[in-house]
Amino acid sequence: MKIHGLQKMTLLDFPGHVACTVFLGGCDFRCPFCHNYELIDGSAEPLMDDEEFFAFLEKRGGLLDGVAVTGGEPCLHPGLPDFLARVREMGFMTKLDTDGFHPDMLRTLFGGGLVDYVAMDVKNSPEKYAATCGLEKIDLSPIRESISLIMESGIGYEFRTTVIDEFHEVADFDGIGEMIRGAGKYFIQPFTDRDSVPFGNLHAPGREKLAGFEAAVKKYVGSVSIRGID
Ligand code: SF4
Repeated sequence: MKIHGLQKMTLLDFPGHVACTVFLGGCDFRCPFCHNYELIDGSAEPLMDDEEFFAFLEKRGGLLDGVAVTGGEPCLHPGLPDFLARVREMGFMTKLDTDGFHPDMLRTLFGGGLVDYVAMDVKNSPEKYAATCGLEKIDLSPIRESISLIMESGIGYEFRTTVIDEFHEVADFDGIGEMIRGAGKYFIQPFTDRDSVPFGNLHAPGREKLAGFEAAVKKYVGSVSIRGID
């Protein structure tokens, strides 16, 4: 498996754990607010292969608790189960970020006990899902199936939405809440701009709007938090 990026240590990507973060290339979606757009269109050169990564990880025993795998969309990679199995055999925990579009891969990973924590993006209400993913249309059944699998998996999980003033309004959070009704944990993450974001002129919603999102989704989810603001 080709690895497109490696953050050697993070306290943020794997809740409660010191981890490194592995970035894999390729994605189903083309979110206009993506921070890693250079990874998703196949134009970025890989940084290293598995063997180089495992040589790095070998030296991190005692320093890291786990490995967070992100992208791009990691579940596009057929080698993901073997990769995570090897990480776990080396004594590290695993965390997966996903867009939720590959429930079959999630079923394989959960069935094999290969993931300790999963974070799934829920991009927007059903009506706006495709546009928020940068697509003309989308079949939401894989997304709904992934939500169910995650909630029934018995492992730690979170759902989360990166919120953008130009894409999200309070009414969308009833739609999002309906999709994840009964979930334990949900995070609202205000968009942050970066040079790598492909489309300019996107903004984080203001505090009042964020509070409205939080209040709307609280009717459906056990714990709702806004992450990443002071
Ligand atoms: S799903 Fe994630 S990696 Fe893929 S385009 Fe959207 S933000 Fe980027």
